[in-house]
Amino acid sequence: MNDDDTKIIEQLSRRICFLEAVLDELPTPVFAKSADARFCFFNKAYEDFFHVDRRDLLGKTVLDLEFLSPESRERCQREDVAAIRNGSVVHYETVSPAYAGPRHALYWSKGFSVPSTGEKGLVGNLVDVSDIKIMERALAEKIAELERVQAELRRMSYTDPLTGLLNRRAFEKRTLEWMKLSVRHEQPVSVVMIDVDFFKKINDTFGHDAGDAVLKVLAAGFRNCCREEDVVARIGGEEFVILLPMVDWEGAMAFAERIRDAVHDCRNFPHGIGLTCSFGVTQFSAPESLDSFIKRADEALYQAKRKGRNGIGMHLVEKVAQP
Ligand code: GH3
Ligand code: MG
Ligand code: MG
Repeated sequence: MNDDDTKIIEQLSRRICFLEAVLDELPTPVFAKSADARFCFFNKAYEDFFHVDRRDLLGKTVLDLEFLSPESRERCQREDVAAIRNGSVVHYETVSPAYAGPRHALYWSKGFSVPSTGEKGLVGNLVDVSDIKIMERALAEKIAELERVQAELRRMSYTDPLTGLLNRRAFEKRTLEWMKLSVRHEQPVSVVMIDVDFFKKINDTFGHDAGDAVLKVLAAGFRNCCREEDVVARIGGEEFVILLPMVDWEGAMAFAERIRDAVHDCRNFPHGIGLTCSFGVTQFSAPESLDSFIKRADEALYQAKRKGRNGIGMHLVEKVAQP
């Protein structure tokens, strides 16, 4: 070897050291494989990422990486070999255990050939997306929690907290829907308005809590007497309403009579309290408004109150009333 050769080797060696230093400064893990798909280069970031000594991995293939599952090792090896052969690009996502906990990484690698020699190889890097994955999971949990809260708020906005029945707002919404269906399908819809008789006396005698307990027993009883599609709501202190879809005024009268007798005979109220309710029945008459429909039921209820309570008043629009 003459002096010139020594000089060239020294220059090449300096050049290689320089390029290795450049790659070691990159924050991204970088690796390279030779034509036989064996690792021939790792930068410092790769070493840090996997907490390995790069010298231990040189000459190995992806099949030797025990932190990958056997299936992913074989798939990666197949893809790497194909990429080297075809000069194509490979993407995959892996989870690898690292000293700081499992790391999610996006791999990119590409087969290439050196223009001057035709020698083939593969270069790849990986991007640590562990923090993004943690943020994605946290975000998904927050969204799920938000959806739970939204659903609860929605439920609360339609529910009477004491009895669990629908509130006035929900009742009006559902009634409007049934009124529309009634018109479209030419089916009757009726309403039964209910008010507890002398409820104030129950509060005064047994206390407000006993009054509340009475309202809960009544609510459960009303719900029990109804079909799934009936709309049962508490629309005031001791006022309830039941919408009966596909039921005409005669059916609603029979239903109200059944409930009136059930309340009168009920022995489930606290302190052995006995009570009665008054009822107002009416049938929807298109094209009237919700207000006029409900107002008529109210008027029917007050007829029953005026007649001495524990009774059923009925108020119909004339064309409905004709038997
Ligand atoms: P009437 O037969 O004419 O309907 O007489 P009433 O005593 O039932 O009617 P009134 O309107 O005079 O009184 C209703 C009472 O209902 C007054 C109010 O304190 C009570 N009340 C309203 N909301 C609640 C509630 O949520 N819980 C309890 N315990 N009482 C309530
Ligand atoms: Mg009352
Ligand atoms: Mg009342």
